[in-house]
Amino acid sequence: MSICNCPCDPVLFNDVQHIKRRDIVLKRELGEGAFGKVFLAECYNLSPTKDKMLVAVKTLKDATVSARKDFQREAELLTNLRHEHIVKFYGVCVDGDPLIMVFEYMKNGDLNKFLRARGPDAMILVDGQPRLKGEMSISQMLNIATQIASGMVYLASQHFVHRDLATRNCLVGGNVQVKIGDFGMSRDVYSTDYYRVGGHTMLPIRWMPPESIMYRKFTTESDVWSFGVILWEIFTYGKQPWFQLSNNEVIECITQGRVLERPRVCPKEVYDIMLGCWQREPQQRLSIKDIHRILQALGKTSPIYLDILG
Ligand code: AMP
Repeated sequence: MSICNCPCDPVLFNDVQHIKRRDIVLKRELGEGAFGKVFLAECYNLSPTKDKMLVAVKTLKDATVSARKDFQREAELLTNLRHEHIVKFYGVCVDGDPLIMVFEYMKNGDLNKFLRARGPDAMILVDGQPRLKGEMSISQMLNIATQIASGMVYLASQHFVHRDLATRNCLVGGNVQVKIGDFGMSRDVYSTDYYRVGGHTMLPIRWMPPESIMYRKFTTESDVWSFGVILWEIFTYGKQPWFQLSNNEVIECITQGRVLERPRVCPKEVYDIMLGCWQREPQQRLSIKDIHRILQALGKTSPIYLDILG
């Protein structure tokens, strides 16, 4: 496990960093996840070079003993994941209630909302008047996809299977820096993206390959399938996969071998990557390393050429 030893980095030696409650000052609510509310906050004494810094804090209220255990396990896991395309985890605050996890603040929010706000019909207000904003370019889309693939190459190198890769679980910082940002905590807000089986289990079936749907088998190869769906989300400006179908219809469709159609603005080269992710046989799928390499190469292609292909 490689650990960043730069002085700005408070988490060392893989131990979960503990942050004092009085060092966290909440500013406003950012959103809500299955765990609890997410707030923008100022955190003191986190960085040796800065007196205070903006952070995002996730709260867990009235935790039961088992929820506390899950929280602790999650914190240990997050402490060990460190990469430029994984949202930075700073530590926990467990003195009292609610339990808190402290993350780097990503000022442009989740990638799904970000994409939807940049689609063909997106409007902005100029001098109080609504104006058409203009779509995101294909090179920008490739850039976003390449960053997520880079984070996934790292996760695969750590033998970490995410199980819930989707644009709603990626976050966008300044300069369209994109990071994988959620490890199983977003199921409430986007509840229609999940399918409830039995009592509590919620499954993101629209992002899952046949073997995960049928046998609950999750592997690095099933994460690759989900990456194909992420690519589709990016090139449709954040549409929900199979939006025209009900959950039961989606299950039938995927298990029968149907795949999502090529989005209107998607170059053939990119759709070929999606098809490489959606091979029925997990071993036949592209590897995330190959996907990352292909995307990087495509990103160097002339933007005009890509736009003609699209
Ligand atoms: P989550 O519980 O991770 O799904 O978070 C719920 C919402 O809070 C997300 O959809 C984001 O809009 C926001 N959020 C979560 N984490 C961050 C972060 N690190 N920086 C900025 N916004 C965040």
